[in-house]
Amino acid sequence: MITDLEKIKKYLQAVKIKPTYLRIRLLKYLLEKKNHPTGKMIYQALKKELPTISLTSIYNNLELFAKKGLVKILLLDPKEIRFDGEKGHHHFFCEKCQKIIDLPIDCNLIKKKKIFGHLIKDWDGYFFGICKDCQRDG
Ligand SMILES: [Zn+2]
Ligand SMILES: [Zn+2]
Repeated sequence: MITDLEKIKKYLQAVKIKPTYLRIRLLKYLLEKKNHPTGKMIYQALKKELPTISLTSIYNNLELFAKKGLVKILLLDPKEIRFDGEKGHHHFFCEKCQKIIDLPIDCNLIKKKKIFGHLIKDWDGYFFGICKDCQRDG
C-alpha cells in the first residue's frame, strides 16, 4: 500500500502532476481511507491540518487526478459524486446507509483486452441494494 509521502510524490510526478503538499495529502487520504469519500468529506478531514485549503481547490485537484487516471469518479450515490483512489473492482451502493463497498468480483469479461472490438481501458460495474449490515438492522 502506498502511504509513504515520498512514494506518493513519485506517484504524482509519474503522471506529470506537480506534487504540491495539498496534492500529496489529498492522494494519501484517498489511498489510505478507501471510504469512497465525497469532496466535502475530504475537505473536512484535511482542513484540520491544512486550514488554508478551500473546497474548490479540493475539487479542482480531484478533477485533475481523475483526468490523469489517479482517481476514479463514482456515480453511484444519487446525491453526490464520490471518489476512489483504487481501481480494479466493482462497487455496491447501499441505498439505506449510502455506503459504497468494493466488490472484488471475478468476471471473465473484464479480463479481455477487447470486448466486441472495443479496446477496454477501464471498467466498473455498479450494483445497488441493501448492504449486509443494514439487512441485519432490519
Ligand atoms: Zn447499508
Ligand atoms: Zn472502490
